[in-house]
Amino acid sequence: MSDSSINVAKFGGTSVATYATMLNCAKVVMGNPNTKVVVVSASAGVTNILVELAHKALTKDEISAYVEQIQAIEFAILNDLGAPKLVADKLLELLESLKQLAFHEEILHRPDLKDSLLSHGERMASLLFSEVLTQQGLPADNFDVRKVLLTDSEFGQAAPQLEGIKQRATQLMAPEIAKTVLVTQGFIGSDEAGNTTTLGRGGSDFTAALLAEALGAQSCEIWTDVIGVYTKDPRITDAARPLPELSFEEAAEMATFGAKVLHPATMEPALRQNIKVFVGSSKEPEKGGTWIVRDCEYEPSYRAITRRKDQVMVTVKTPKMMYAQGFLQNVFTIIAKHNLSVDLVTTSEICVSFTLDNPPNSVLQRLNRETIEELSQICEVELEEHFDLVTVVGNNMHSAAGVSSRIFAAVSDFNLRMICFGANVHNMSMLVSEKDSSNVVKALHKSLFEAE
Ligand code: ASP
Ligand code: MG
Repeated sequence: MSDSSINVAKFGGTSVATYATMLNCAKVVMGNPNTKVVVVSASAGVTNILVELAHKALTKDEISAYVEQIQAIEFAILNDLGAPKLVADKLLELLESLKQLAFHEEILHRPDLKDSLLSHGERMASLLFSEVLTQQGLPADNFDVRKVLLTDSEFGQAAPQLEGIKQRATQLMAPEIAKTVLVTQGFIGSDEAGNTTTLGRGGSDFTAALLAEALGAQSCEIWTDVIGVYTKDPRITDAARPLPELSFEEAAEMATFGAKVLHPATMEPALRQNIKVFVGSSKEPEKGGTWIVRDCEYEPSYRAITRRKDQVMVTVKTPKMMYAQGFLQNVFTIIAKHNLSVDLVTTSEICVSFTLDNPPNSVLQRLNRETIEELSQICEVELEEHFDLVTVVGNNMHSAAGVSSRIFAAVSDFNLRMICFGANVHNMSMLVSEKDSSNVVKALHKSLFEAE
């Protein structure tokens, strides 16, 4: 079943941080009668604390202190809502189960317990935000997304099962949204056995796009704290400009290569179903934002610059490589087995270097460790850290005359450790020392975007 007028609106952690910011979100929801599904992240800071609870070795007292920090954030919102008993009871229940899970996880270290624990941030935020909407005069139901968002059992980085999601959304959500607005959780899902899973940090955007796809929605709005996607991270310098329009491919490249506004997988469902994605600020919706669409009016060679931090360069070396048939294949088989994607590769006769994404406290970090251990069994492995990957995203970058020479001229003062054109025509990346990377981004921005 598809109803092309449906809009799915997602609100990020800073948008649902407090009662006051939730009121802004309520205005946004009520401003668009097509919004039938609202997806929320955990209130700002909550998931970070949950990650500490899940991954750090903690004493009982430390656990209690962390739980109290979360409680303070949730209670502040609850109290501003007038603490209606039904909501208060449910919130207390969630806080209690969160605490019990934190104690159990500390002893058992099970990945399924970690994901159950992490799910509480979104579950509390959706409970509170549905009450905000109801009090503002828009009756809304808090819907448990785990009934619909089926995933595999890769805890911490679960992959959605599209067929199952579509079936269940049609069965369980479609009839409801004919009557009311559903407020549901981003980031979390459940596997076939009913265990709670999570989609990886920042996964709420992905949830919104997946639900939009499953419900045949026409648009998906990602509401955050910036007025759209910028030519570069506005925190690096204020010369960054917001982009009115982006193509699905450009947005996907930007997200993959470090633009923080969107989870990298968000564009996949949008692309499959041609769902327009909007990115804007819930605090200043009147300022507009970025529309991400299939066909852009204008396809510039350079659209934006992104940066991905915490890159590790791995060099594998075997003196026997010249004779060792299949060495490269063995290396890449090991990498593939751990589900890692490699962005930059160089090879020579006796060594292969590649980069790995290594964000602290992530599932990736664990996979990287396991990969390196396994590689060490077949060859010499050398690790170099403190790199950032800077990427220029644009169009027809391989074929347009002068595109790469202009990029190289802009960064000629810096040491580029590795350089690579993407597998598609939309990006060119360079690996640079983390201490240079802000200046590399600024130099590129100046030459590519501030010249004319
Ligand atoms: N709350 C989760 C996180 O902080 C998911 C999200 O916000 O998208 O990673
Ligand atoms: Mg986010």
